[in-house]
Amino acid sequence: MRKFLPEEELRSQNEQLKEYNEQILEKEVKLNYISYFDALTGLPNRQMILERLQSMLRLNQNKNPIYIVFFDIDHFKHVNDTLGYRAGDELLNKVTEILNRSMAQEDLAGRLGGDEFALLIQQPMDENSVFRFIDQIRQSISEIEIPEAHNIRTSASFGVSVYPFDGEEEIELMKCADTAMFKAKEIGRNNIQFFRGEMKEEILRRFEREKQLTDALKNVEFFLVFQPQFSLDGSDSIRSFEALIRWRSSRGIISPMEFIPLAEKTGLIIPIGKWVMQTACQMFQKLCEQHDLDALVSVNISAVQMRDEGFIQSVKDVLEETRMDPSRLELEITESMLIDSLEETVQLLKELKALGIHISLDDFGTGYSSLNYLKMLPIDTLKIDKTFVDDVAAEVYSKKLLGDMIHMAHHLNLTVVAEGVETEEQLEFLRTTGCDYAQGYLLGRPEEMSFIQELVAKTRGDR
Ligand code: C2E
Ligand code: CA
Ligand code: CA
Repeated sequence: MRKFLPEEELRSQNEQLKEYNEQILEKEVKLNYISYFDALTGLPNRQMILERLQSMLRLNQNKNPIYIVFFDIDHFKHVNDTLGYRAGDELLNKVTEILNRSMAQEDLAGRLGGDEFALLIQQPMDENSVFRFIDQIRQSISEIEIPEAHNIRTSASFGVSVYPFDGEEEIELMKCADTAMFKAKEIGRNNIQFFRGEMKEEILRRFEREKQLTDALKNVEFFLVFQPQFSLDGSDSIRSFEALIRWRSSRGIISPMEFIPLAEKTGLIIPIGKWVMQTACQMFQKLCEQHDLDALVSVNISAVQMRDEGFIQSVKDVLEETRMDPSRLELEITESMLIDSLEETVQLLKELKALGIHISLDDFGTGYSSLNYLKMLPIDTLKIDKTFVDDVAAEVYSKKLLGDMIHMAHHLNLTVVAEGVETEEQLEFLRTTGCDYAQGYLLGRPEEMSFIQELVAKTRGDR
């Protein structure tokens, strides 16, 4: 009996080993799966896409075209933020269904991560057919319905690069597809762009400018100028100073019209805007202390800045840090803020007003302004856009329009400021029409604080 024992032992050891091997194999397969496939959609992941592209390129001795398509879902973050991750996942799975349905055997669809997908197309097709093929996918994506989101329309932006024309290596080709996708997003989303050489330079230039803007904030290359708003009641007293940002760059002094849009696009407007508010309040607080001044400081707020979650808190922080009296601060907002979400804007403005801050509606008349909006908005002041002031000299009906605007604003208990006043004629007309305040080159240009200090000292006679 004894001699059988080792054999039995051996067998059981063998079995254990087999079981153990099987476990290892299973684990390996699992690991392999995890490292090559995306858990949510089951699609090949970035690593697999990269490796498949490598092998497609290696096996393609005739240099037949291979199309590398990157696409990403427009405003995906919005779906996730407003409807939750479940809805976001559902959307990704619906996109996956479309891809699984559309792709040919020899091609590959994968998920790069987040809401980004990639297609590798090597079946023989010319650029036009590829375009039509992708366009069908684009169309199908735009027809996806998410039950929870009645009015959210999905869409996607596509970028395409072509082997061997745009590059010979996988990394380069993927970069080109990414660049083209970036372009597609930039020109309004929901479209398809093939990579073009110029895109590279354009995007490099943009990155360069973005970097300069980031550095400008770090190196404090921005400064503020202030433009006074004068009363038209005959006293010539100053109601407010509007803070306007300037950028002293290596290219000279740059106007906000040039860099604010870029700052808005990149989100840099949030720290820049905070810097403006902080600096304006600090300087103004000092001015008030020195001259016992009774005026406001007006700070321009971009819609992007206001939509930021941390906006109210950053206003509170600035008030606290600068020990600024909130009733001396005025925020100038524009109508573009209102079109997105009137309800949310009204709520936000109410919160600001509760802090004691003044609110002014800037560039009035240029946007979507309607009386209905105005009635609902908790604002104090209306700034009539320069274009209406410019027209005073031109036509009789423009005078009437401007006059009507002023009366309407007064009817709603709003203070009226006219901006961009350049001539005596305009000033006289505004005065006779009952406009409350005026701002413009005729009365005072935007100037640095040292100049403003002198101006205040002079007008107050306390030099
Ligand atoms: P805005 O808020 O409408 O500011 C008025 C602009 O008109 C200023 O241009 C001012 O210098 C100019 N201006 C004032 N009076 C006259 C006049 O009599 N004639 C003419 N032709 N122009 C006059 P600026 O400083 O170049 O600012 C342009 C725009 O950039 C501003 O328009 C505002 O929308 C934006 N901006 C300026 N500073 C800031 C800021 O700190 N934050 C944000 N978000 N935007 C800013
Ligand atoms: Ca303004
Ligand atoms: Ca304005």
